[in-house]
Amino acid sequence: MQPQRKLERETRERSEAHAISDHLGSAWDGGGGYGLPGRGGGGFFESKTAAGGGCHGGARVRQGGVRGAVQGIPGIEFVFQEQRDHSELFEDISGWDYDVIVFYSMTQNISEQRRQNFLSLLDRGVGVVALHHIISGFNDWPEFQKIIGSRYLFAPVEQDGATRPASSYKHDIEIAVRIADPSHPVTHGVTGFTTVDETYLGCAFEPDNYVLLTTDHPTSDTNIGWVRTYRKSRVCTIQLGHGPSIFAAPQYKKLVVQAVNWTARRTG
Ligand SMILES: [Zn+2]
Repeated sequence: MQPQRKLERETRERSEAHAISDHLGSAWDGGGGYGLPGRGGGGFFESKTAAGGGCHGGARVRQGGVRGAVQGIPGIEFVFQEQRDHSELFEDISGWDYDVIVFYSMTQNISEQRRQNFLSLLDRGVGVVALHHIISGFNDWPEFQKIIGSRYLFAPVEQDGATRPASSYKHDIEIAVRIADPSHPVTHGVTGFTTVDETYLGCAFEPDNYVLLTTDHPTSDTNIGWVRTYRKSRVCTIQLGHGPSIFAAPQYKKLVVQAVNWTARRTG
């Protein structure tokens, strides 16, 4: 938690809007958030309690990772909030002040009360940007897949009378990222690029994702970035984000920033 930052923000003129996000790993000091010009704030929330298994058991986001990639953006204020109990960001939302939640954790536990609070924020139109690890987050809450549009399968599942295998991951893969729709506000001005990052394969997807980013790498699912709506919220999920190469890519920074602006309804 960084209450000092929050206080600073609250005493500032409300010329920015904000987003909030969760995060994995202690190396990323503090959770995070995006703030956007506008009314309130956004933020990251961060967890040090990543669940075991999957790609990120023990993974650490390097100093200056996502946080370094998104700080200092004009018109956006990031509020980083560490989560020590997976999802306490949603415990009490009475003073909620963020425009966008930027998830970057793979935390698992979210109580019924926190679920309801989170959903009520989505009923208000608070935006969601879901980055990388969170595709495997809140894995036992089926509704979360409907919110962000995908779920990393930790174990095989029975589906339509057949067994669907568990998802898999691979580190340090060089992939070509293609822009499926360059006219969308999230991808506007972003050209295809090649980067080195972690890939996921065999994730479950919601059928109504509007796909913005794809790759044809065999270790990856084809769809690696999309937007959708859930209740009154705009949602953008970007699978990329393990780092550190991707954090250094200007295209990634642009995508994340434009995702925040779009989910905050500042564009398009
Ligand atoms: Zn990862």
